[in-house]
Amino acid sequence: MQNEPENLMEKIQSLAKRRGFVYQGSEIYGGLAGTWDYGPLGVALKNNIKESWRKKFVSSKSDMYEIDAAILMNSKVWEASGHVNTFTDPLVECTKCKRRFREDQLKEAGKCDECGASVGAPRNFNMMFSTKIGAMEDSASTVYLRPETAQGIFVNFKNIVDSFHPKLPFGIAQIGKAFRNEITPRDFVFRVREFEQMEIEYFVKPDDWQKYFEYYKDEMLEWMEDLGIDMSKVHELEVEPDDLAHYSKRTVDFEFDFPFGKKELYGLAYRTNFDLTNHALEFQDEEGAEKMTPHVIEPSFGVDRSVLALLASAYDESDPERPFLKFKPAIAPVVCAVSPLLKNKPELVEKAKFVYGMLKAEFGRVMWDDNGNIGKRYRRQDEIGTPWCIVIDFDTLGEENPAHKDTVTIRDRDTGNQERVAIHDLISKIKEQL
Ligand code: ATP
Repeated sequence: MQNEPENLMEKIQSLAKRRGFVYQGSEIYGGLAGTWDYGPLGVALKNNIKESWRKKFVSSKSDMYEIDAAILMNSKVWEASGHVNTFTDPLVECTKCKRRFREDQLKEAGKCDECGASVGAPRNFNMMFSTKIGAMEDSASTVYLRPETAQGIFVNFKNIVDSFHPKLPFGIAQIGKAFRNEITPRDFVFRVREFEQMEIEYFVKPDDWQKYFEYYKDEMLEWMEDLGIDMSKVHELEVEPDDLAHYSKRTVDFEFDFPFGKKELYGLAYRTNFDLTNHALEFQDEEGAEKMTPHVIEPSFGVDRSVLALLASAYDESDPERPFLKFKPAIAPVVCAVSPLLKNKPELVEKAKFVYGMLKAEFGRVMWDDNGNIGKRYRRQDEIGTPWCIVIDFDTLGEENPAHKDTVTIRDRDTGNQERVAIHDLISKIKEQL
């Protein structure tokens, strides 16, 4: 085939664009590096990821409080957290072509990725985006777009304690955007400048940190598997003491074999009492007990990296004629597609519209598809990972075989097998497998 992408990453990226998962940010103006726009299927996939996360880590727990803090935060937050001074990456500049790189990401140490000339000495580059707030353009008006959702949680610690009076251990969770001025955004949605995080700060008694670290490590692995991430590509990396972030005493990175290499997907950090101490926040577990500063276990997830890991896990090209996304039904952007066998037969269309309306009301993520022949429709749905295609044919009308009246065919994406199912059994049949 002409212009067929060569490697897996290009194939995934091209599919994502063609079928409405992810588009380049500001594309019609030449793009904006490190930004991507999610189309309808990408939004549906992200929503399913976030809902699954929320179910696993928030709504099924009785000790978790979810918040939604502002993206713009007072600069004092970032001074106290250490980000103003230490949230930096080592920036190097090529002595010849003047391109800039993150030193620890150079393909060959000390050499420019573009022209191969040597690079200069590294300097610390702060990754926070700053902007000005209000009409006064002085230093007091500088604010930062949060580079992590975690600090939004810490600064609301006292609010949650005062409103809900939790006992240790308890957690605060947040899903939201974060911004980092990455020196070299790359690898599609893997390293971007605007992304979404799902984070938990779990507050524990100091002596309990190891127990909850292990607990959340298991919970994270369980969730990845539930989501449909290929676990044979997930690796736990115990971060070496010298490589730990400024706030961490222990970190485990969950790395994933992305098509461009093994890279961090999620992280789990023991943040000690670093943040609460910096914000001068204390806690009293029981009335009359001494005030103390809880320690923190932080499971941290990126939504965009989840999308990419899922696309890479689900992409199946064992049949080159029919590449498809093998999403688990619960996270597939579209649960099922409904088609009339022929679109110029009003009686088929009418019946199909009825079935579509019924399933749409139940599942929401249902697509109407009457474009091209049935074979083409199946290919299209396979490509976006729709688990089931439902076709309304002449049998449904009872014209060929009265015993088949009010039944439809339901085709399975992974096997291509078709089965006849009564319309009134469709919802329960699909629900069973969701
Ligand atoms: P890296 O070492 O890859 O830059 P990090 O260790 O700085 O990542 P954390 O600060 O631990 O990342 O952020 C928590 C999570 O947020 C990461 O595990 C990842 O899923 C996500 N994340 C971080 N930076 C980015 C980014 N630039 N683009 C997309 N997702 C990101």
